[in-house]
Amino acid sequence: MATPNTKHIVTTTLAFAAPAIVALAVLVAIGALAIGPAIVAAVAVLLAIAAFAARPVGRLQELQQRIDAMVSGGRVTSPDGASEALTDPGGGAIGDVTAAFQRFERNWHRDRKALTDGLGAAATLFDALPDPLVTLDRQSRLVYANAAARALLAEGRPEDDIRGRDLSAVLRQPLVLEAVSEVQAGAATRAVEFTFADRVDQTFEARVETIGGTEVSDNDAFALLLLRDVTAQRQSEQSRADFVANVSHELRTPLTSLIGFIETLRDTAKEDPAARDRFLALMATQSDRMARLVDDLLSLSRIEMNEHTPPDEAVDLRHVIGTVTDLLAPQARQRNITIDTQLDPVTGPIAGDADELVQLFQNLIENAIKYAHEGTTVRIVAERASETATISIIDQGDGIASEHLARLTERFYRIDTARSRELGGTGLGLAIVKHIVNRHRGDLAITSTEGEGSTFAVTLQYAAPPIIAADETKAASAD
Ligand code: ADP
Repeated sequence: MATPNTKHIVTTTLAFAAPAIVALAVLVAIGALAIGPAIVAAVAVLLAIAAFAARPVGRLQELQQRIDAMVSGGRVTSPDGASEALTDPGGGAIGDVTAAFQRFERNWHRDRKALTDGLGAAATLFDALPDPLVTLDRQSRLVYANAAARALLAEGRPEDDIRGRDLSAVLRQPLVLEAVSEVQAGAATRAVEFTFADRVDQTFEARVETIGGTEVSDNDAFALLLLRDVTAQRQSEQSRADFVANVSHELRTPLTSLIGFIETLRDTAKEDPAARDRFLALMATQSDRMARLVDDLLSLSRIEMNEHTPPDEAVDLRHVIGTVTDLLAPQARQRNITIDTQLDPVTGPIAGDADELVQLFQNLIENAIKYAHEGTTVRIVAERASETATISIIDQGDGIASEHLARLTERFYRIDTARSRELGGTGLGLAIVKHIVNRHRGDLAITSTEGEGSTFAVTLQYAAPPIIAADETKAASAD
């Protein structure tokens, strides 16, 4: 129980003793009681009331302390800082009030803990969100910012540091601020896109929504601002649109020629067998080009579809490359190109898909034959490593300027489109190579020296771990 406050005891004693003292004074006034005994009686009354008042005053004071502690959001603590247990409520009217208060206090602490735990869990959850999230009051000041928002807008400063700051001070984006104003003016939702001045290649979408609730005071959260990095999405939409435009363009060109030739055949070349033969040959070239393009598109889409499932066949790389070089031998002969193959360092089968590996090496070796200078040698060289095999296709051609290297595997990226078309290229060969390498969890490295030639090095993984020599195994079991 709290130590009774003297002032309260005095005032309570005086208040309770007042009627008795008045009665004694009246008795003295009418001569029924002598002043001496009256004073003694008054002192006795005061002492008795003071003695009786001490306990109820102490109990009421304890209640007051507990209520004060609740108001300031904590618990009554003992001098050593531990939270103090409730005392026996006692009897009487004050006892009933104390017991009722104790029940209320217990529930209040339980509800408060549930609320604090819930808020803590919500904060952890919001902090785990990858997207920046901010709540704003009616004056566009920050009420809450999750970890992603603090990292993006306030260099990761703690929440207390940024609470109350104006949104325009941390996000100088006129479009977003305008959207927030519109929501404050009554709009339910607004979504805008923006880029940061120092990160122009990153696009964000900002979504502003009212949180709702009619009794929102000036400092309460009123609107929610959610930022989402939509760079990858926009890039993929753009590349899809570019891809469709490129495919249409690539098909359109031979198609236009075909339509032109058909018209000519129907018209001027109708009666001219020599012209007809010439046009039919040109038409065959154009339709071959269209067929190659469609074949490459189908290959690309098939490989992309399987890209997430690594192939699990054990493939003999020498056999694959042998098949490809046999296939391309006539083409190489036409350009007087020698193919020099050194695959001895390859020690075992490769984990892969045989058809895809044929396609991969066919595209690379065919490019080397196409882009090398006439009469030179294309070398196919293997390098030894414990878990991987690296096959380099080295040509002696014009080489590739360094600014093109990073983009060579993009679909339809060609250094010289006219030359590529003239050589029967679709612009998809290296994109197919890149996707096959990705599916095989391998690597493609392109290096080139202008005027000397280029090297396309493919690294692939062996199907099985390196074989331990038989005597090593015996030695291990003997141990
Ligand atoms: P293409 O069908 O045009 O050959 P690829 O995707 O196979 O398409 O190659 C893309 C471009 O990369 C080619 O157009 C060419 O400009 C360049 N390229 C590919 N291989 C070589 C090489 N060995 N030497 C020089 N340039 C090459």
